[in-house]
Amino acid sequence: MPIVAQSTETTDWVSRFADEVIAESERRAPGKPVVVASGLSPSGPIHLGNLREVMTPHLVADEVRRRGHRVRHLISWDDYDRYRKVPAGIAGVDETWAEHIGKPLTSVPAPNGSSHPNWAEHFKAAMIASLAELGVEFDGISQTEQYTTGVYREQVLHAMRHRRDIDAILAQYRTKKAPAKKSQKPVDEAELEAAEGSGAAAEDDGSSGSAGYFPYKPYCGNCEKDLTTVTAYDDDSTELTYACTACGFSETVRLSEFDRGKLVWKVDWPMRWAYEGVIFEPSGVDHSSPGSSFQVGGQIVGIFGGEQPIGPMYAFVGISGMAKMSSSKGGVPTPADALQIMEPQLLRWLYARRRPNQSFKIAFDQEIQRLYDEWDRLDAKVADGSALPADAAAHSRAVRTAAGELPRTPRPLPYRTLASVADITAGHQDQALRILSELDPADPLGALAEARPRYDKAEAWINTHVPADQRTIVRDEPDAELLKSLDEQGRASLRLLLDGLADHWSLDGLTHLVYGVPKVQAGFSADATPKELPPEIKTAQRSFFALLYHLLVGRDTGPRLPTLLLAVGQERVRTLLGE
Ligand SMILES: [Zn+2]
Repeated sequence: MPIVAQSTETTDWVSRFADEVIAESERRAPGKPVVVASGLSPSGPIHLGNLREVMTPHLVADEVRRRGHRVRHLISWDDYDRYRKVPAGIAGVDETWAEHIGKPLTSVPAPNGSSHPNWAEHFKAAMIASLAELGVEFDGISQTEQYTTGVYREQVLHAMRHRRDIDAILAQYRTKKAPAKKSQKPVDEAELEAAEGSGAAAEDDGSSGSAGYFPYKPYCGNCEKDLTTVTAYDDDSTELTYACTACGFSETVRLSEFDRGKLVWKVDWPMRWAYEGVIFEPSGVDHSSPGSSFQVGGQIVGIFGGEQPIGPMYAFVGISGMAKMSSSKGGVPTPADALQIMEPQLLRWLYARRRPNQSFKIAFDQEIQRLYDEWDRLDAKVADGSALPADAAAHSRAVRTAAGELPRTPRPLPYRTLASVADITAGHQDQALRILSELDPADPLGALAEARPRYDKAEAWINTHVPADQRTIVRDEPDAELLKSLDEQGRASLRLLLDGLADHWSLDGLTHLVYGVPKVQAGFSADATPKELPPEIKTAQRSFFALLYHLLVGRDTGPRLPTLLLAVGQERVRTLLGE
């Protein structure tokens, strides 16, 4: 049942794709559920950048579902891919993992200490947990399971029968440089693979030996690696002979009953489009080049009796502020890292509001505070009905799915305020609650739980992404020297502030007070608006604020002053300001 049909009747990109996908599904498979797909390779921690591979079809699938259609979002776990290299910096992994290179990802041991049965399962689990938090509904398909139980047997035999047709299609592109595989990768890794040159190309295309071209590669029956060459194949008996260059093993098997091997990537992908009837599957921009898997797949899919999906190219998603992040997880930011510091609604919004071909950055630095301000302003506009239709649509896609609302923070206090409070209180929850309940004395926060999980996210951000030299440390003792050096005007400004503290002890009250002190000193009313004031007032305000920061935290700047004052507490403020 469509839940919010009205608010999504706009021309945002999600709606436009949903129109196209529904029409195409009706044409290709009338009466069947709409199928959209994503592919993820659990070859290591799944990069936050790869989340676009999932979020793009998710948002479209969700819109299709909201309109009352049945839809399946497949996530193909490419866990039967070969283990290409040992990623750096993974806890519980050492150089001995290199001996597994060439085996399927599900045959590589999980990092030491993992509760998962193998490498692929270990890295899939983290992604699955993040997708649950993000409200992404999907059908996961393990390619290991598909291949090793013979699900694709007919498709494999069909590809072998048509190997010359496949070879002819691939031959058109062989001279061109092989592009990277589907998933988005950090630049250095992509470059590395491009530099591998023909090796990577052979891996994606299949190999031509003296016996001809074969789009299928067995994993060795002795060492489990894919360093095998098919040396003979008989179409009638399906007898296949291969030799392993890693261990020298050789055997002849009957492909009609053999389940330890897979189609090469450029054949595997279009085979699955046809097998699953995929209508929509986006891919990274590196696939727009001639000879890309997506383009070649569009020619190969016909051999399997299918059609190419609607497949927009999505642009790169960057990360800002990760330089300071620890490399405990291979230095790779994952969706779980993002969800530690931001609510799922915010992360969903970043994807919903940008068209797939627009790149954007996910902020782990100070920018996250500005982003949250923007989000809260949009939230308020949606609440009072003043948001523009496309903005309201993006908001709706962020906060709910066809299944309902995502859990939200009951009292979403400003992220920057929460971050400052977490910064200053350094884990003391009773202090945090005291400060937060003083923000708005007319409607005080009753328990920290009302500000969660947003409070926890802000606290995690402060603890993991704000460098030590930017943390706020409130002075233990008054700065006697600075206090003694103050002139008459400096002392008078502190007096005005101290006299007003008790009557202004709230976020709004203190804001009024700290801006008002320099006005009153210059002979104006504390309520005077900027138009009624000379420009010099700004200078006076700035030096007054700098004085307060120095006396409270020993630096030029810090969290917003009203928040800082509340956080420090009235008694301690009085002491530090020399009362
Ligand atoms: Zn072998």
